Amino acid sequence: MMAYAERPQIGISSCLLGQKVRYDGTAKRNRWLVDQFGEFVDYRPICPEMAIGLGTPRPPIRLVGTPDNVRVLGVEDPSVDVTGALEDFALNTAGQLGDISGYVFMSKSPSCGMERVKLYAENGHATKKGVGAYARVLMEGLPNLPCEEEGRLNDPMLRENFVNRVFTYRRWQTLRARGLDAKALIDFHARHKYMLMTHSQAAYQRLGRLLSHLKGVDLNRIADAYEAELMTALKRRVGRKRHVNALQHIQGYLKDRIDGDDKKELTESIEAYRREEVPLVVPMKLLRHYFRRYPDHYIDQQWYLDPYPESLGLRNGI
Ligand code: SF4
Repeated sequence: MMAYAERPQIGISSCLLGQKVRYDGTAKRNRWLVDQFGEFVDYRPICPEMAIGLGTPRPPIRLVGTPDNVRVLGVEDPSVDVTGALEDFALNTAGQLGDISGYVFMSKSPSCGMERVKLYAENGHATKKGVGAYARVLMEGLPNLPCEEEGRLNDPMLRENFVNRVFTYRRWQTLRARGLDAKALIDFHARHKYMLMTHSQAAYQRLGRLLSHLKGVDLNRIADAYEAELMTALKRRVGRKRHVNALQHIQGYLKDRIDGDDKKELTESIEAYRREEVPLVVPMKLLRHYFRRYPDHYIDQQWYLDPYPESLGLRNGI
């Protein structure tokens, strides 16, 4: 079992942790975030509306305007305009949160919502085309940061994707914090081969090319480009077909080590996963079982087999 990077720090809308900071004096405690994910990460709770001096309870605010020109105004008193205050706070916060590895926003909020927030036209008609003013500026300031919102995290695939990005980003941040060298970059890329290939084979190859000439070049510039492409690639959803491909490739390393019956069992398990009869955890566990018995240094190094704490059970849902 590989050692995990130090605990990721995660920015989060305070109300999701149970803090009673919402406009109506309530909280929106999210059980999975607090009780399960919270076991493996440290949270940095932030309530932007409280931070700009709106107390609780407070009169509600909402997004008003067009997608290109959005203001955050009071619902009852539209002369209250907190757009600038929220944007300034987000800019400042982005500057101070360089070491976080992810952010979980509260859905639908005019400040924290990541997407599909109600945006009111002057005539009062609402469309779900808005982004919370704080979330928008923060995400622009930290474009590679894994971000998700509470509602979307109920989807097992989006949840797994987010957690994978958080832990991969943490490993990447740790590598950069230790000081860049060519060997460490190449090693990072090699150890993420199968994970990256499930998300995008083309991105894996482009990233490899980026690292192919590291002599005499500015490693920070290369690392910036690598980070942007890596985090974009990991956002792509992974369908069963791509996992099956990776599992079969990895199975190939056992070719001369396991006998016919074991091989058949493993193949059947991968096929059952392909047919959607079992979740990913089933063939994955079997593979890991065989690699424990017949260790292979190369496969042992692959983060794909062990990308985040197993007890989160995320591969049971995909
Ligand atoms: S959604 Fe954001 S602004 Fe609203 S209460 Fe939660 S943390 Fe505060």
